[in-house]
Amino acid sequence: MTARPGRWALKRKEWQAVRHAVLERDNWSCQHCGERRRLEVHHTKPVRDYPQHAFNPDLCLTLCAGCHTKETNRELGHVPDLKRQAWRVAVAELATKPIEQQEKTHA
Ligand SMILES: [Zn+2]
Repeated sequence: MTARPGRWALKRKEWQAVRHAVLERDNWSCQHCGERRRLEVHHTKPVRDYPQHAFNPDLCLTLCAGCHTKETNRELGHVPDLKRQAWRVAVAELATKPIEQQEKTHA
């Protein structure tokens, strides 16, 4: 696994201040889905392309870990694995169904 682009900036103490300012501004919630746990701060301009903006809160966005991963993959041009997503949805649906209903559909 290669290092994520822009990792150098995340080690700087300036980043801690910017990150906190962005989380405060966004009310400590994911700006895509409203999640309030596992928050990360995303750069809307990739740091590898815009290193001069690495510590600019106006170009940062609060995202949860899930949305951040999706956003990063989209930026890197990765196509989401549809088969895997369908599988995840199927498993999530199964988990919400009562046991009796599952047994009926299999009988
Ligand atoms: Zn989210």
